[in-house]
Amino acid sequence: MTDRELQQKSVQLRKKLLKYIYQAKAGHTGGSLSCIDILNVLYNRVLNIDPDDFKNPDRDRYIQSKGHSVEALFVTLADRGFFPESDLETLCQYQSHYIGHPTKKVRGVEQNTGALGHGLPICVGESLAAKMDHKSHRIFTLLGDGELPEGSNWEAMLIAAHYKLDNLYAILDYNKQQITGSNQEVMNTEPIKDKVEAFGWSVKEVDGHDLKALEDVLNNGPFAEGKPNFIIAHTIKGKGISYMEGVLKWHHGVPNEELYAQAQKELDDLELAL
Ligand SMILES: [Mg+2]
Repeated sequence: MTDRELQQKSVQLRKKLLKYIYQAKAGHTGGSLSCIDILNVLYNRVLNIDPDDFKNPDRDRYIQSKGHSVEALFVTLADRGFFPESDLETLCQYQSHYIGHPTKKVRGVEQNTGALGHGLPICVGESLAAKMDHKSHRIFTLLGDGELPEGSNWEAMLIAAHYKLDNLYAILDYNKQQITGSNQEVMNTEPIKDKVEAFGWSVKEVDGHDLKALEDVLNNGPFAEGKPNFIIAHTIKGKGISYMEGVLKWHHGVPNEELYAQAQKELDDLELAL
């Protein structure tokens, strides 16, 4: 896949996640749009995974701690061929496994997540197990900045550094907002870089919408031997849709027919311009 095709895919994935959220009349719109570029790069440029051999023990692991942005994960997994995209027509319907949080009943999903602060602790266990088994695969997680204050994250960070888990990559989708306001207002976590470094991790910052920059940072670890890797990915909630960017109500807002049409038009125009 060329770099241009990867950029086009980011736009196409945005269109798809909006389509299924619009149809289901439910979803975490803003957060899915902020992390979709990260998922696109992970699944198409970084993770060593094979949809036809998903249970291969040597595969890289990706566990989405910010499980509520599951629509981004579902469209990415469908695009990689883990299941037919038509399955997503059932999103949030009675008896569908395609619900508002990741579940292992969906092919390609490594862990049930969505209760906040669980992904990183699970990844610490996965990373430690890989080290004990002398395996070389990597473990990735995506954290929301709204879930970062959860105590379990900081406990996990302490343990990851103690066991020198340099095969672990925690990516922060740093869109600076959460459900009830800005991080600054709800629970200030800054200075994040200083805090995480003080816990014994190696930290890099990146533009979370710059596909090339994401690929470079995610494929060039460990950043320091013996240290777990933390990536602060600066993102924009609602990225790609003019009226959603940075606007809190789109945390789980669903566009009406008119606004949905506008969003798709904006993405069509963006794709044509690439
Ligand atoms: Mg956030």
